[in-house]
Amino acid sequence: MTQQNVLVSDTKSGVTVFPTTSQKPPPAPGGGYISIQRRWVLKDLEINGGQRINAWLESMRASSPTHLKSTPSFAEEQTSWILHHPSALDMFDQIIEASKGKQIVMFLDYDGTLSPIVEDPDRAFMSDSMRKTVRKLARYFPTAIVTGRCKDKVYNFVRLAELYYAGSHGMDIKGPTRSSKYNKGSKAQAVLYQPASEFLPMIDEVYKQLVDKTKSTPGAKVENNKFCVSVHFRCVDEKKWSELAHQVKSVLKDHPKLRLTQGRKVLEIRPTIKWDKGKALEFLLESLGLGNCSDVFPIYIGDDRSDEDAFKKLRDRGQGFGILVSKFAKDTNASYSLQEPNEVMKFLQRLVEWKHLTPQPCSRV
Ligand SMILES: [Mg+2]
Repeated sequence: MTQQNVLVSDTKSGVTVFPTTSQKPPPAPGGGYISIQRRWVLKDLEINGGQRINAWLESMRASSPTHLKSTPSFAEEQTSWILHHPSALDMFDQIIEASKGKQIVMFLDYDGTLSPIVEDPDRAFMSDSMRKTVRKLARYFPTAIVTGRCKDKVYNFVRLAELYYAGSHGMDIKGPTRSSKYNKGSKAQAVLYQPASEFLPMIDEVYKQLVDKTKSTPGAKVENNKFCVSVHFRCVDEKKWSELAHQVKSVLKDHPKLRLTQGRKVLEIRPTIKWDKGKALEFLLESLGLGNCSDVFPIYIGDDRSDEDAFKKLRDRGQGFGILVSKFAKDTNASYSLQEPNEVMKFLQRLVEWKHLTPQPCSRV
């Protein structure tokens, strides 16, 4: 791999689309080609669109596969996908080469990235070994957790005061409260940014309505993430997904200032402001004084559709790259893949070991 911006053929979108399987070119060194299957691509979900519920559910199933299929076409799709999104562990040396002379900044999603996806979202605990790894990582690189969760809840899971936290899909950003080499002096601020604070009363009201409306669906769980609300489908029988989606829609139809997005077995309700994990990434780079630097190398690791905003932002900036955590072929703007949180931990450990063995005095922050 060299740099992400020289590996893709469509310079405007940062995406290469291959029309058919037989016409696919060989992968670029480092897997810069991104194979997009348009049938999987969904934009923000239209709350008032009468035909949309089936599309939500189809997209949610596509982003939350739970069963390995064994058909030849599935196997071929998997093989092709991994060729174009190789393991970040296998490509570690090339990744390090691409970052040479640049400041690596780490952005980490939480659920499905640092912790396994579990049935009860309140019990998505991070292992002690993962916490130890992230703590070491933050000694060497500025590190931020970027999550759809409420910032305070994810902080209680991670419990590392030296990190940046961007909760509610980046709508609630907080700087480190423990000083480190990256936040000496005035950088350690309690709250950096809350671009959607005017929506707080509305989100509270919608949360209450959703709790009431969905209580008839067994397993449905509504989570108040402060600036957004998540309706979890993880423990709901798939036969009841449509019913639950209709319940969500019925609450939201009276709130045109809110929008609905879909992730891994979750529907999320957010303010309509133009703010997402990609914008949060940019804001954090600015906060670190690296917003306009050419020698910054952000690495974003995430498993969810909402992480695609950050992957795309990196492609658009032509800096660093995204790593998608997935065992399955998915439509993505990430360049590399890791299969599960355990592989994420191994990748982070290798970064720490590399940095420990080869200190780079030209660090900018
Ligand atoms: Mg996630």
